Amino acid sequence: MTVFDSPDYADHERVVFCRDSGAGLKAIVALHDTTLGPAAGGCRMWPYASTEQALSDVLRLSEAMTDKNALAGLALGGGTAVIIGDPATDKSPALLRAFARQVQGLAGAYYTAEDIGIGLADVERIAADTDYVFGLASKGAGSSDPSPFTARGGLHGIRAAAKHKLGSDDLAGLRVAVQGVGNVGRQLCRLLQEAGAKLVICDIDERAAAAAAKEFNAEIVGTDEIYDQAVEIFAPCAMGGVINDATIDRLRARIVAGLANNQLAAPRHGAMLFERGILYAPDFVVNAGGMHNASCDIFGDYDKQRVIDKIDRIYDLTLEIFRRADEAGRPPHEVAIDMAKRIIRDAKERREEQAR
Ligand code: NAD
Repeated sequence: MTVFDSPDYADHERVVFCRDSGAGLKAIVALHDTTLGPAAGGCRMWPYASTEQALSDVLRLSEAMTDKNALAGLALGGGTAVIIGDPATDKSPALLRAFARQVQGLAGAYYTAEDIGIGLADVERIAADTDYVFGLASKGAGSSDPSPFTARGGLHGIRAAAKHKLGSDDLAGLRVAVQGVGNVGRQLCRLLQEAGAKLVICDIDERAAAAAAKEFNAEIVGTDEIYDQAVEIFAPCAMGGVINDATIDRLRARIVAGLANNQLAAPRHGAMLFERGILYAPDFVVNAGGMHNASCDIFGDYDKQRVIDKIDRIYDLTLEIFRRADEAGRPPHEVAIDMAKRIIRDAKERREEQAR
């Protein structure tokens, strides 16, 4: 199979396969669309079962980054990197440096950051060998860990969804199931608890689940049981693809709104949620807070209050997407993708006009 034949290939501009056998590096960097600016998105390290699986992930993640950055109003395109390997056993300083050299070789076409399996300490190491990282307090213009900012935007998205679906954005007393209590899941739990929500959580990492349960007075359920919970809101905050043929009919939630990237296994699952009357807040809209914060490093203009003001607009943007979706009788994620494509098309037209 070539990249062009992959079902997830969506006119990506560039897909780079990176290998450094000495350092044990096998990585793929995908630049989906750079109309609005250099491609920017995290680097994920995961023990993919096959190269096809890694390719599918990087193609889908980078495409979603294009939509996320466009709707966030950022002068950035969409890109993502994946490193094939188990972060617990395969990650080494040599591997991270080899990856950094590959990023440097792209000469600013792609900026990298943390994602699952690659933490801030890893990004620090990567930053020693490339200029093209963001989301690092030590390297950038003042940004720091993106997770609290992502969670802040996520809470706005959840509130907007509650307002639209349940008639009020007051979360007090609502039951929310949070899948995954890692960096962003934990931060979201904190905000939800402060807002008075009752939490049901799960995590494959039992210690993380136990710690979060204690901290947020949450009920722990099994990682498979999370789909069956009698909750108003299901908030996926772990891996993508969790809204799929096997899970969709188990959901009892009236809203799906969480921070994980690519929650829909395929776009048709967004349509299935819509048909079942479950409101889906598109992940790439509500989880853009971290990008708002970290991307300032790329532009060198960090201003925390301005970042927060932009993140707080996620509430209105999410409501606007729901309004347009209702008007058109279409699933919100389709409407949001169309809005992002429109922004990119307009930018292309303006550029062509200027070139004339
Ligand atoms: P993380 O690795 O810190 O946390 C993920 C957590 O999910 C871990 O605790 C892990 O044990 C758990 N997990 C994995 N598989 C699970 C499963 N099947 N069921 C339950 N728990 C499971 O990663 P993170 O930074 O919190 O990111 C989580 C998701 O949010 C990812 O999809 C990421 O792409 C997305 N995201 C993160 C940010 C950010 O600012 N960190 C921004 C935007 C999107």
